Amino acid sequence: MEKKFKNDEIVSVLTTEPIGKMLAYKVPHQGCDLGTFVLVPLGNRVVMGVVWSVNRDQLSRHKVKKIEKILDFNPINLEMIEFIERFASYTITPLSAVFRLITRVNKLDSEINFEKKYSFTTNKIKRLTLARKKVLEFMKLNADLQFNINEITKKCTVSPSVVYGLEAINALGVNYYDRDKPFPKLDFSLKGKQLSKDQKLAVEKIRRSIRHNAILLKGVTGSGKTEVYLECIADCIKQNKQALVLLPEIGLTSEFLSRVEERFGVMPGEWHSGISLAKRRRVWKSVSKGDVQLIVGARSALFLPFKNLGLIVVDEEHDHSYKQDDGVLYNARDMAVLRGVINSARVILASATPSLESWVNVEKGKYLGVELSFRYGGALIPKIKTIDMRLEKLEKGNWISPTLVDQIRVRLTKGEQSLLFLNRRGFAPITLCQSCGEQVSCDQCDSRMVQHKKLDRVMCHQCGNIDRIPEKCAACGSEGTLSAIGPGIERLGIEVQRLFSDAKIAVLSSDLQTTAAVLKEQLTKIAHGEIDIVVGTQLIAKGHNFPNLTLVGVIDADLGLQGADLRAAEKTFQMISQVSGRAGRDIKAGETFIQTYQPDHRVIKAIVDSDLEDFWRLEANDREKAKVPPFGRFVSIIISGVDLKKVEEVGRVLLKNVCTLRALGIQVFGPAPAPISRIKGMYRNRMLVKADLKTSVQKPLREWVLKSKTIKGVKIKIDIDPYNFL
Ligand code: ADP
Ligand code: ZN
Ligand code: ZN
Repeated sequence: MEKKFKNDEIVSVLTTEPIGKMLAYKVPHQGCDLGTFVLVPLGNRVVMGVVWSVNRDQLSRHKVKKIEKILDFNPINLEMIEFIERFASYTITPLSAVFRLITRVNKLDSEINFEKKYSFTTNKIKRLTLARKKVLEFMKLNADLQFNINEITKKCTVSPSVVYGLEAINALGVNYYDRDKPFPKLDFSLKGKQLSKDQKLAVEKIRRSIRHNAILLKGVTGSGKTEVYLECIADCIKQNKQALVLLPEIGLTSEFLSRVEERFGVMPGEWHSGISLAKRRRVWKSVSKGDVQLIVGARSALFLPFKNLGLIVVDEEHDHSYKQDDGVLYNARDMAVLRGVINSARVILASATPSLESWVNVEKGKYLGVELSFRYGGALIPKIKTIDMRLEKLEKGNWISPTLVDQIRVRLTKGEQSLLFLNRRGFAPITLCQSCGEQVSCDQCDSRMVQHKKLDRVMCHQCGNIDRIPEKCAACGSEGTLSAIGPGIERLGIEVQRLFSDAKIAVLSSDLQTTAAVLKEQLTKIAHGEIDIVVGTQLIAKGHNFPNLTLVGVIDADLGLQGADLRAAEKTFQMISQVSGRAGRDIKAGETFIQTYQPDHRVIKAIVDSDLEDFWRLEANDREKAKVPPFGRFVSIIISGVDLKKVEEVGRVLLKNVCTLRALGIQVFGPAPAPISRIKGMYRNRMLVKADLKTSVQKPLREWVLKSKTIKGVKIKIDIDPYNFL
């Protein structure tokens, strides 16, 4: 194919270097296209970049250096270039930082997975050394063959530098061969499950939708959402397009991979932090060539350079782990919709308890709503009841009410499983001195140390700071006065063991099952009925299928209702609905019991009534009145640094410059110390920006922050659509 740019034309190249602008380079003799990956000289180094656009600046040609090398990857396509640009401008992220997300996997070692082979060229070379002559004669003799470096050095008994020398003067031809095996193709001759009427209707509705890019697929856990979108994946791939499924957690991938294998006979490509670099490179290359048909991955899979993307599925779309809180800040669900629009790809957001954002988008007609109303096979939706903790008699240091204990007993005698849910890691959230009242807290953060008894440690869940459980109080010096206050998952496990000494118990928490493999083993045990009582954090709340589980006990439903978080009600609602969905997935009916001190709270009531629509409507009304997301826009500005005075100074400067924003009707609150006012030794002040949805905030915000960035050692982080208000 004809190359867009010819020898010596000047192009703009985007590199991974944080220099805040594109650099100009001359095109090498073989030409290149938009999106071509290249190596370019920068100072005395060579860095990776991508050809971004033609360069129309007035430059003195002789100062412009030449692109050093064209890398042997498929160029990224125009849709990808547009996605990167729009992503960067929406999230106020430098382009180079977004480009780093895309190339992270390659680390400049483009040849590692390619085999380089040499062939003879007819170049007449004068004045050859003996060694070089030897090599050229050998190559000429075998002009119809190609050899790698080892073969040549062995056959000719020369050192590799001889071959490299010949390569440098173009006396040898070079070809690269991909060492990675291609991904096997999906097999469509395999019969999928016979869809229920409800499911068929859903698939049809999705197929017929032309007006909508994004579809919200809503349905209780176990209703067959996965079956429905597997059908849509089949449609997509039959049209020779690629599909991407995003899952909120690595822990969920293995279950989904097996379902893909069952349905299509082969494993899809996998993409997340648990995959080795070599495997990721294989996936990356395959994606860019358009070879691999289906990718299953974490949010970062959104940055893979798909050649021909036709469908993105975001499973458990309400899940907060789609919001990246570190480094480049973005919401993978929202950016999936953006990428879908740019690629004209369909986007399916699936959830039993959608985010209010998506629910509202359906109401407004922006997304198409598709609903599955029943559990597959007529399995019953679990009954949900509250346990009023004000009426229960519990001994000190106990957390499971007598009512719940009785219910667990009933399951044990019937040989059925129970799940106790508490979203708190560790043994106890507080370690308190009984003598002086001092709490053990992190010396790097404004936060308490959580006691982890099994590890004999106290741990800061903000910064990871870790220490032995102290024997003495650091404040008053008393010995043996420190006691654990409040329940964590470990402590609950011990209580369960004490109450039901004959039962087989599994405690699941990310501290205890630290790798995906260990977690999978535990989950398999539970699924096979080898466990009677499961005690778990939110690790257990998602996706997993336990046919013999008939009781779910939520230990502290009030936990999430406290706090000034915009989404406190929504989060609690989603979390409890989701865990209760673990029960009764088979023919046996399940029951969920919620321990609460506020049984009349509207969130608890909505959960008990299983009235989702009602809950969303109420919640939407409240937020509309308050003009908060999704009916208004929030941006959070975090100013942080080790020196509090400097942090405050930057805050003052920001505030002084705020008039340009106010002139546009953008409100700014703060700065004030963040709820967690120090993390890892960094002081943190917050500002909250509020605007209506019509106002485009990115450009004025970027200029405002740029103008105010004056002091070294202070970081300003802009979080568009924040989820974390701490
Ligand atoms: P969801 O994604 O909504 O939680 P799943 O697609 O995982 O639901 O379905 C729940 C369970 O029901 C799975 O074990 C699935 O295999 C089974 N199932 C769903 N639909 C069908 C069907 N049409 N035929 C057979 N089994 C089905
Ligand atoms: Zn003390
Ligand atoms: Zn800390």
